[in-house]
Amino acid sequence: MSRVAIVTGGTRGIGEAISLALQEMGYTVAANYGGNEEKAKAFTDKTGIATFKWDVGDHQACLDGCAAVTEALGPIDIVVNNAGITRDGVLAKMSFDDWNEVMRINLGGCFNMSKATFGGMRERGWGRIVNIGSINGQAGQYGQVNYAAAKSGIHGFTKALAQEGAKSGITVNAIAPGYIDTDMVAAVPAPVLEKIVAKIPVGRLGQASEIARGVAFFCSEEGGFVTGSTLSINGGQHMY
Ligand code: NDP
Repeated sequence: MSRVAIVTGGTRGIGEAISLALQEMGYTVAANYGGNEEKAKAFTDKTGIATFKWDVGDHQACLDGCAAVTEALGPIDIVVNNAGITRDGVLAKMSFDDWNEVMRINLGGCFNMSKATFGGMRERGWGRIVNIGSINGQAGQYGQVNYAAAKSGIHGFTKALAQEGAKSGITVNAIAPGYIDTDMVAAVPAPVLEKIVAKIPVGRLGQASEIARGVAFFCSEEGGFVTGSTLSINGGQHMY
């Protein structure tokens, strides 16, 4: 029986590319999403990958969602914590809701999904957790104290959980993408985006498939000696 992987926010953008890469590796993939039914349906029609809707920021929903995935496909061996949102604004204008929602979904989601799956991985002696951080969690970004704090937190979370999983065959790693051509980046105003691209040494935005390649490496059988690592995939924009 093939290993089961769950990708949060796995139906579009970077998550879609990750779902496809893991499917290509022979894993049975479940793609979680938050609410965009149209994209989720189009994704399943195209890929045959089952989708599961729940809010990764909701602890109980993650426990129930992972139980539903296990019931449908089998025990979860691989978790990719990819779901994320932005609620940008300078501190002076940022509401507590904007702060809290980004922390709840981006960072809380990693905790919730790991809580739901780590015990099973430990019992079976094998697991892969990959958390999607960000260049802006490494370097900070004007107007993103919430997002930068949550993503920076993901990198600390990764290193701490890696230590807890190491003796049980569970690796925990992170990817810090630079600017990738998805809906999230399409929301950045064009003049701001032009300035960002001008600062990327390779001279372009990244592709979702380029992030998925890194995730696939961490999730491979051969990746068992790599844990607690953060892989920066950012076109040379930030060398960390
Ligand atoms: P998109 O905005 O294109 O897609 C976000 C995905 O997350 C969607 O599938 C969405 O589901 C899902 N999602 C959002 N909130 C929730 C929630 N509460 N519960 C479950 N799923 C949720 O994002 P990207 O593909 O651009 O980004 C993916 C990850 O990569 C994010 O964590 C982002 O922070 C990170 N990243 C992205 C960069 C970029 O340049 N694009 C750069 C650095 C990091 P639905 O379709 O239902 O809305």
